[in-house]
Amino acid sequence: MAQIIDGKAIAAQLRETIQHVVQTMPETPGLAVILVGDDPASHVYVRNKIKACEHVGINSIERRLPEDTTNEEIERVINDLNADPDIHGILLQLPLPDHLDSDYLIQLIAAHKDVDGLNLRNVGALVAGIDGLVPCTPEGSLILIKSVITNLSGLHAVVIGRSLLFGKPMAQLLLRENCTVTMAHSRTKNLAEICKQADILVAAVGREKMVKADWIKPGACVIDVGINRMDNGKLCGDVDFDGAFDVAGAITPVPGGVGPMTIACLLANTIKAAKIGQS
Ligand code: NAP
Repeated sequence: MAQIIDGKAIAAQLRETIQHVVQTMPETPGLAVILVGDDPASHVYVRNKIKACEHVGINSIERRLPEDTTNEEIERVINDLNADPDIHGILLQLPLPDHLDSDYLIQLIAAHKDVDGLNLRNVGALVAGIDGLVPCTPEGSLILIKSVITNLSGLHAVVIGRSLLFGKPMAQLLLRENCTVTMAHSRTKNLAEICKQADILVAAVGREKMVKADWIKPGACVIDVGINRMDNGKLCGDVDFDGAFDVAGAITPVPGGVGPMTIACLLANTIKAAKIGQS
């Protein structure tokens, strides 16, 4: 039976540490969240992020813009926030409505305020092994892996999914820890056999219970990033948790695994950005 990695508890510890750090900082860190349109899930995510900021003493502001906002209007908001000395972190809540150019707009956020780690300077810094702002979900996933494995060196990590938001930065972070990393995606052949070789298996696909128990190496650490809504309305991950639980050495649940770490790491990134801004 696997050890369940309690992301909720680990995120709570991290938030507590952040709260103490905020109290020692000369200036209160500030985070701005830009929310465009009416996507209900995005509204919930933003509300949770603002609440988490309040909890640890980070100032947060929300810039709500209507569904029909233009690229130029968002550009102006980003430019104002880039120039605002009280704002240290800027987050553009994704996905944006279809008529907007997310790739272009993300790149307008100043690299030192880019708490989502999506500016190409931060993407490049991660690949080059230079200090920068790293996307929150992979950063949080690495903390969860390290909570159960102290030395990752030489372990085989398989990451399913190659998005810029998760799969690619996750693979880079694992490489930085000296793992041997395999990246899998929708065109990968023999996915089950590849997964079965993993000491660390990370699934970020968005397909309900795709990873089966017989894809998992006995004793492996399984990180389930996927969030899927089942027909019964409940959430589940990309891993068939009940089957995997009997085979894996450690596993994250959904919900209560990676999810809470994403927000905690956003707070950590805001502090990091504030320290860069104040140095
Ligand atoms: P994404 O951009 O849609 O990427 C999905 C990846 O999965 C792609 O690289 C795709 O391959 C790959 N894929 C699709 N079908 C596959 C298959 N049958 N076999 C192997 N690979 C397959 O999604 P994302 O943003 O990375 O997010 C992935 C999941 O994580 C989603 O469920 C999302 O909700 C969740 N997520 C959770 C958090 C959190 O805080 N917990 C944060 C971010 C994301 P191709 O590149 O070949 O198309």
